[in-house]
Amino acid sequence: MAAYDTIVVGLGAAGATAAGTLARGGRRVLALEAAARAGGRVRTERCGDGVVELGAEWIHGQRPSRVYDLAVQNNVSLVIQDVAYDVFRSDGTKRDVKLLDELMMYCANVIEQDSDRNESVGAFVTRKFKDYLAENHPNLLSDEEFVENFLEFMNIMVNNYEASYDWNDVTAISDYEQIDGDLHTSWHRHGYKTYFEILLNTYNNGPGLPTLDIKLNTEVTSISWPRDGTGDVVVTCRGGEQYTAPNVIVTVSLGVLKERHASLFSPPLPEDKIEAINTISMGLLDKIVLSFDKAWWSRNMAFYWTVEDKKKLPEEDKWMGQIAEASTSCGTSNTITLWTYGESGKLIETLPEEVVKTKVVELLQRFMGANITVPQPTGMLRSTWYSDPFTRGSYSYDNLQMPQHPHIRETLGSPLLDSAGTPRVLFAGEATERTHYGTVHGASDSGYRAAMTLLQSSKI
Ligand SMILES: Cc1cc2nc3c(=O)[nH]c(=O)nc-3n(C[C@H](O)[C@H](O)[C@H](O)COP(=O)(O)OP(=O)(O)OC[C@H]3O[C@@H](n4cnc5c(N)ncnc54)[C@H](O)[C@@H]3O)c2cc1C
Repeated sequence: MAAYDTIVVGLGAAGATAAGTLARGGRRVLALEAAARAGGRVRTERCGDGVVELGAEWIHGQRPSRVYDLAVQNNVSLVIQDVAYDVFRSDGTKRDVKLLDELMMYCANVIEQDSDRNESVGAFVTRKFKDYLAENHPNLLSDEEFVENFLEFMNIMVNNYEASYDWNDVTAISDYEQIDGDLHTSWHRHGYKTYFEILLNTYNNGPGLPTLDIKLNTEVTSISWPRDGTGDVVVTCRGGEQYTAPNVIVTVSLGVLKERHASLFSPPLPEDKIEAINTISMGLLDKIVLSFDKAWWSRNMAFYWTVEDKKKLPEEDKWMGQIAEASTSCGTSNTITLWTYGESGKLIETLPEEVVKTKVVELLQRFMGANITVPQPTGMLRSTWYSDPFTRGSYSYDNLQMPQHPHIRETLGSPLLDSAGTPRVLFAGEATERTHYGTVHGASDSGYRAAMTLLQSSKI
């Protein structure tokens, strides 16, 4: 008999929820995590006078949310982040700022809605925006430069939200469903890592879970499963160690599955699952966090680039023109976070620290204009979600092909059954969730679903 009932691969939100649920149900669980920490795409780091989040930052919605509920049940004090921002222009002036604010608010509302046809978010917002201008600001409609500037700005804002490479690749009729309640609840100075302490029962010096073994720094390289129903699943790790159990829950990201599903599974995955892996898009969103002696800003900042100013950027600095936001943090009083995405995000990940730091300070100074002198940062942290071999991107999004494949995320999440119909390889992770993909609560729900499948199908 194997020493474990289940092996969980990966200890992000999906894996920690699955492992915690099974262990609390009395199952003997082995969790194998390639990184040196649990959390995956949740990564809380000390910075400035508190903590910052290099991955997930907010609990998106409260009712119903596994994440929000656990925080409240454990008396963790949460705060609602103010998401209002001041608009700054790349020419350092305050020209049109009130108008820009009005138009941004209008487009933000449009983005919340579904289109009546399968078109991209880019096409949908452009259409509605032009209608709005025709009705409310007809003189601006013929100002091609203004329209181009504004739509390019909105394109970046959408990508910062969806983690997409371009808003013309995101469907305007996605299946994503928002949860009721505030969309930007922060773990404050506790950090999102607290969620993992709660899941794994180490919060407030908790003892952990007696039937859960966790092995960090343990990269799984192959999962061999008995399709004919005889024997156990054999999981092999980078160092050659092997572990066995009747079943395994795989929670690695869609980016990791895209890169290595062919070498990871034996026998290979079925065609429909490979199609799902190839069809769903993995996006990229990165953060650059700067700390300062003290805050010189008053609230979040939106950076409105003019096309003219972007054109003037030297070739090697073009990526700066794709940064359009800096947000304050609830976990510190003296850091700000700049957001990058897509191709420019990939490029920034490869640039030396000093180059990024110098250039983002230059960028901030440009937008602040003559009134504020941006001081030198005391530190910088940045995420590298694309280069990270254990994430290969930030989170998935619904591209234009998705409406033709309404069940494709379910296909990605469906278990592999042996000849007796017993689930042997189960899948969880944000990308397997049709309505809450791209979130921590979605990832957690998927882990819970996989664990319950095993608890309910088990004869024990
Ligand atoms: C910059 C950024 C901002 C975000 N903001 C928010 C937000 O504000 N709110 C929100 O709800 N969500 C947000 N998200 C999304 C959220 O972080 C993810 O949806 C969620 O954390 C994914 O959890 P997961 O368990 O599916 O995957 P992961 O967290 O990726 O967990 C998978 C785990 O598997 C491990 N692994 C990979 N390969 C192997 C291997 N071969 N062997 C062993 N282990 C392996 C990884 O190291 C990882 O720990 C954000 C994400 C990013 C990157």
